[in-house]
Amino acid sequence: MKDDGKNNYNIFKSIPSGGGIERLTLENSIRKALQLEEFVLYYQPQIDSKTGEIIGTEALVRWNHPTLGLIPPAKFIPIAEETGLIVPLGKWVLKTACLQHQKWKEKGFPPMRVSVNLSSRQFSKHDLVETIKEILLETHIDPSYLELEITESMTMNVEVAIEILGKLKELGILICIDDFGTGYSNLSYLKQFAIDRLKIDQSFVRDIMTDSNDADIVATVIAMAHKLGIDVIAEGVETKDQLNFLRSQNCHEVQGFYYYPPIPAEQIEQLLMQTTTI
Ligand code: C2E
Ligand code: CA
Ligand code: CA
Ligand code: CA
Repeated sequence: MKDDGKNNYNIFKSIPSGGGIERLTLENSIRKALQLEEFVLYYQPQIDSKTGEIIGTEALVRWNHPTLGLIPPAKFIPIAEETGLIVPLGKWVLKTACLQHQKWKEKGFPPMRVSVNLSSRQFSKHDLVETIKEILLETHIDPSYLELEITESMTMNVEVAIEILGKLKELGILICIDDFGTGYSNLSYLKQFAIDRLKIDQSFVRDIMTDSNDADIVATVIAMAHKLGIDVIAEGVETKDQLNFLRSQNCHEVQGFYYYPPIPAEQIEQLLMQTTTI
């Protein structure tokens, strides 16, 4: 048992240098962890910047390793993506998040949007729409409460993106562009992509109080989104000053350590119990 832990520790230490044996061992560990259901979702509240109300949560996966404890996604998502294991892992994440939404609903909490990160490997899989349809049927979640977070790089092939996003919209789910501003973005297509929300990347939010360029970019993105009728959320909000700036620009929603870090589902319930009457 002790040996196991030590081996695994070495595996993680070797990331991201990667390559050879370690990678293969890690791949096998991830596969085994999926079978043993060692992954767990944390949920980070998304807040209405005007009222302070929790209006949604973002599901963020962690690996609850029996000997190493909680492993953050940066340590295993890249390898899961390279090996294709992100497809079954991503499916598990989607289903688990939808089931959690339903559990909260059954407990009588007011329904909250749940946002799930989609990897490019999942996005380009031909059966994505079918998989999501299946999950909607199995979990009975009202699709208007499920949001997928995609990144700009997934929309590089404009025609393909329009087609996939169109099909996803037909299912009634929401689409958010994550890390907005960090990648390729074909602004002229934003409207055709049928996007519901832009998430302003934390790298812009971090310096809004000290870097006037970042402040201008954030203000411009918010104004543009308003013009296009797209909602905006800012991530990585850590200070009251950042929050006030975002409020002054009418940024609808915020997410970040200033309010809450990602927390386990039970802690979300405690929060909801404090803030709602059921
Ligand atoms: P992301 O989707 O951009 O998620 C936001 C990350 O920022 C999360 O890190 C979150 O804990 C962190 N964060 C939240 N508020 C703050 C803040 O105020 N300040 C700072 N400095 N950071 C904040 P986390 O949970 O470690 O996730 C890292 C990345 O791993 C995610 O970035 C996402 O790209 C990926 N990831 C996580 N879960 C999944 C998943 O289920 N599927 C896929 N495909 N990727 C995932
Ligand atoms: Ca995200
Ligand atoms: Ca992000
Ligand atoms: Ca990111």
